[in-house]
Order: sequence, then C-alpha cells, then structure tokens
Amino acid sequence: MGVRNLISPVARVVAMLFFGALMVFLGAGCQFAGTLGPGRFNTVVIDAGHGAHDSGARAVRGTSEKVVALDTAKRVAAILRRRGFWVIETRTTDVFIPLGRRVAISKGTRNSVFVSIHYNWARRSAARGVETFYYSPQSQVLAQKVQRELSLSYATPNRGVKRRGFYVLRKNSRPAILVECGFLSNPFDNAIAQNASKRQRIAEAIARGIIAARE
Ligand code: ZN
Repeated sequence: MGVRNLISPVARVVAMLFFGALMVFLGAGCQFAGTLGPGRFNTVVIDAGHGAHDSGARAVRGTSEKVVALDTAKRVAAILRRRGFWVIETRTTDVFIPLGRRVAISKGTRNSVFVSIHYNWARRSAARGVETFYYSPQSQVLAQKVQRELSLSYATPNRGVKRRGFYVLRKNSRPAILVECGFLSNPFDNAIAQNASKRQRIAEAIARGIIAARE
C-alpha cells in the first residue's frame, strides 16, 4: 500500500511529461507540414468566370453563365468572409476581365488559393454533373476537397477531378482550381443553376471544400 502511494504520483508525473513531450512533438510536426503544403492559406481569390460581352455558356432557359457564375462567386466570397478569410474577387459586376489580369491578381496575392467558378455547356443536352479542374500538383488536394463537397450539393453526377491546362490554372503560381457547377445545356442542372437558394447550397459546398483543404 505504502509503495503504491509512492509510485503512483511518480508514474503520473512521468506520464504527464511523456504526453507533454508528445504534444509538443506532434505540434511541431503539424507546423512543419503546414509550411510545406498549400494548406496554410488565409486568402482566397474568387474568380467569377466570363463577364460583359463574354457571356460564357448559354442556358437552355434563364440567364447565361456569366450571371449565375457571378452570383455563385459572390455567395462563396460572403461565406468565406464570415469564416474569417481574406477574400479578393476578380470581378463583382458584369465587366470583362482578361484572363491574364485574373492570373496577375492571383500571383500578386500572398498565402492564397485561386478558385474560378463556372457553369458548363455541352452540345449533347443529356450531359450533366459537376467537375473540378486543376493543373499544378499543389492544387490537387484543393480540387479533391471542393469536388467532394460540390458533388454532394445537389443530385447530379460526380464527374470527378481532372487535370487540364486551362490558362488561369496553367499560368497560376498559387494552388488554383476551376469549378464547373453544372451544365446549363441540361434542363435538370440548369433548373438548379437558375435557382438562387440552390446556388446558395452550391456556394456553401464550394466554401466547405476550400475550408477543408486548409485543415
Ligand atoms: Zn465558363
């Protein structure tokens, strides 16, 4: 009994020291990993596709891509700001921003990721679903996280993550993705895209994916 009383507090102190050291070690590990990966951004550049004379995809019914993409982008920006991110929007009105300017904005921003928001179009009206493109390897995780959330935002096929050399991705020095939120050429996807509350759900999904990529 007496021996137990002696050993027990000693063992407790040893255990505390051990776990304390373990926590410090793990903490240092996390920090180290954070400085290496794209996961430590505090700024998001939100790029609404198209604008002005460049309407983007035409909808089978309702407004064109430049309108629904801008609205979705503004919603994503608002959600991220509420979550404490610094957000830069390449456009907030119906203006034409050359692709080079969009990339320059991204390159000129520190600790940032770039998310370009689009809606799709195909000649075949049956084509539908959501997909996310990336180019540089450092952008792959961001693409995967956003695509995962986006694919759950409404009932449409998950077309997956694809590597593609789109200008705004290829010329970018930051982790950069291009999100296609559905096909305006498909009546089902388009009905979602034309509905403000559905666009809010899409925006929330994109924001969740971005936040998940940082964690
Ligand atoms: Zn587009």
